[in-house]
Amino acid sequence: MNLLLIRLIIFAVLFFAGLKLYRMYREWKLEREELLEKDDIRDEGGHMVRCTYCNVHLPESDALRERGEWFCSSAHRDKYLEERKTQD
Ligand SMILES: [Zn+2]
Repeated sequence: MNLLLIRLIIFAVLFFAGLKLYRMYREWKLEREELLEKDDIRDEGGHMVRCTYCNVHLPESDALRERGEWFCSSAHRDKYLEERKTQD
């Protein structure tokens, strides 16, 4: 009787340990997949644009947009607008 009880306890412990490990593995896998998906989205969304002033290429998220033109920095945006103003 005692032996059966011990076997039952060992079985239960192994079962729950296995279940816990399986859940941890599943969460780890899900987190990894989510991270990979985020990377994919970032790659697809990272559209490159060109600075109108210096022609350097940079990701759209880092660029500034002014009057339909892209700029790498506010300094170049200001310079470009300043030059356009003097040309007009
Ligand atoms: Zn620039």
